[in-house]
Amino acid sequence: MAGPLTLTTPKWIPGEHAPNGPVQEITGVVFTANGQTLAWRRDDVDLFQFHLTIPQGVSTLHAHLDCIVTERVTQKLAAFEWESLLLYPANTPVRDIPIQASVKVPAGWGIGTALSPVSSGSYPVPAPGAVTRFAATNVEQLQDSPIVTGLNFHEFPLAPEITPKHYIDVVSDLPDDSNLRPAVLASLNNLVREADALYGSHHYHVYHFLLTLSDVAGSVGLEHGQSSDNGVGEKGFSDDAHELRDSDLLAHEFTHSWNGKYRRPVGLYQPDFATPQQGALLWVYEGLTQYMGNVLAARAGFETQAQYRDRLAETAANLDYTPGREWRSTEDTAIAASVVRSYTPWMNWRRGQDYYQEGQLLWLDADTLIRKLTQNQKSLSDFVEIFMGKGGNTGPLIVTYDFNELVDDLNAVVPYDWATFLHDRVDKIDPHADMAGIERGGYRLVYKDKPSATQRTMGGVSGGRFGARDCWFSIGLSVGGDGSISDVRWNGPADKPNLAPGEKIMAVNGRIFSAEALHAAIRAAKGNSEPIHLIVQADAFVSMADIDYHDGERYPVLERVEGTPDTLDEITQPLTTPEKAPGEEKEAEN
Ligand SMILES: [Zn+2]
Repeated sequence: MAGPLTLTTPKWIPGEHAPNGPVQEITGVVFTANGQTLAWRRDDVDLFQFHLTIPQGVSTLHAHLDCIVTERVTQKLAAFEWESLLLYPANTPVRDIPIQASVKVPAGWGIGTALSPVSSGSYPVPAPGAVTRFAATNVEQLQDSPIVTGLNFHEFPLAPEITPKHYIDVVSDLPDDSNLRPAVLASLNNLVREADALYGSHHYHVYHFLLTLSDVAGSVGLEHGQSSDNGVGEKGFSDDAHELRDSDLLAHEFTHSWNGKYRRPVGLYQPDFATPQQGALLWVYEGLTQYMGNVLAARAGFETQAQYRDRLAETAANLDYTPGREWRSTEDTAIAASVVRSYTPWMNWRRGQDYYQEGQLLWLDADTLIRKLTQNQKSLSDFVEIFMGKGGNTGPLIVTYDFNELVDDLNAVVPYDWATFLHDRVDKIDPHADMAGIERGGYRLVYKDKPSATQRTMGGVSGGRFGARDCWFSIGLSVGGDGSISDVRWNGPADKPNLAPGEKIMAVNGRIFSAEALHAAIRAAKGNSEPIHLIVQADAFVSMADIDYHDGERYPVLERVEGTPDTLDEITQPLTTPEKAPGEEKEAEN
């Protein structure tokens, strides 16, 4: 092996849709061979690459590296993605690079992962000090198989009658939380059965839901082929109200095993982790997953049918009140995915990762259209069964697709001008959201003067929260409980007097700011000509601002259109017989 060698760390991490590999955190890099330290030099252009020269007579190169990890780790648990420590020959397909990994965790901590252990001994809770070795695999699969580990560890088998096997591995900061309550386990069993019935195939040898419950480790949902890395707050699954906030998380990430991992847009799959990913079809990768994930969440019982509709109303209204759609197509949010990531001021004018929710409405539109065109003989389920089931059951595998294949598979369900259907909704500028699916589903989006039951429930779990979107559809403000303005709707009532994100409302109609004072002012201004008077702090200055708005409070809900079929409720009807935990049946609200 003597001569020049180039090693690399991963740059484009699958599922992240951005070049955010952890190179900045990689430290302590030392190469040794035959007892000697070898010099290395970083590539001048590709900063993820390390160049070194292997001397004559060397058969084994030892590389040491550390990765400084400050996220998803607490005193009691950790979630570990292998890319943090991956270093491998550059310019080589990662699926061709063999690798065998091992791990040592703190004494008493359990391990959850889709990797197979080969070391004997106690697993998934190794003996103190023991090293757990995993079966040999390749770099592509290792990167796709993260680990959660923690002191408070529970592994539950799910829907045991289904092959292959499914598990959820839970770690939590507090002792009780990882022991999931029976209602959550019942919904998880339902989810596995519902996905089995819906997709009709699978593309894994085993599936592990990995879940961290911690207020410190943060929120995450990252898909993998044989597992998913999910993180929610400490009490995220401890009661129905908390669960509602992330009700579609596990169903969404599970769906990705089919849509995103097995079926991958051709531009989003790269045989190495170095070539840029292209996001143009993310409205399928994420958008179809968003749609199916929400449907599965309702079918499995993570939320009721009414809660599904309330959340759909919120999604549709948010998109419809996104002025950025006046200049930017949904496809553009997908193409630019790697630069439109997190919250920033004027988000509504920029647009964010809207391909998730836009895709949800688009695929609902397609689902209800197929049902209508076929007199309910077929649905989007027939499409996903074709699209995600090609090749039957497989182990972990990536099969790419392009736009034309989507059109062909839709036409195989029911002939229609699907290319135009998709282009119209994705590539074109449309100032309004796609409401066709909701309307064909037997509902219409309306605005009421009170939040939906679901919004009230979700609002109640963060301690008298003042919902950030409470005034979005009225005066066009996202406001925190302390009066901080996080966003202003472009060209909305609050934009007229030049309110801006980052400012803080100090007083409303002569009263010190409170959520109640602002709501009372919106109600008081209804139907008369007196504006809402604000005193606003911007940096070191204070100014007055009048909002000339008189339409009262407005919250989105779906209203049933009487005399039409209730297709939305048909869509969220379980395909299998749901399992319910004793005494924990959820009440239908609304
Ligand atoms: Zn996703």
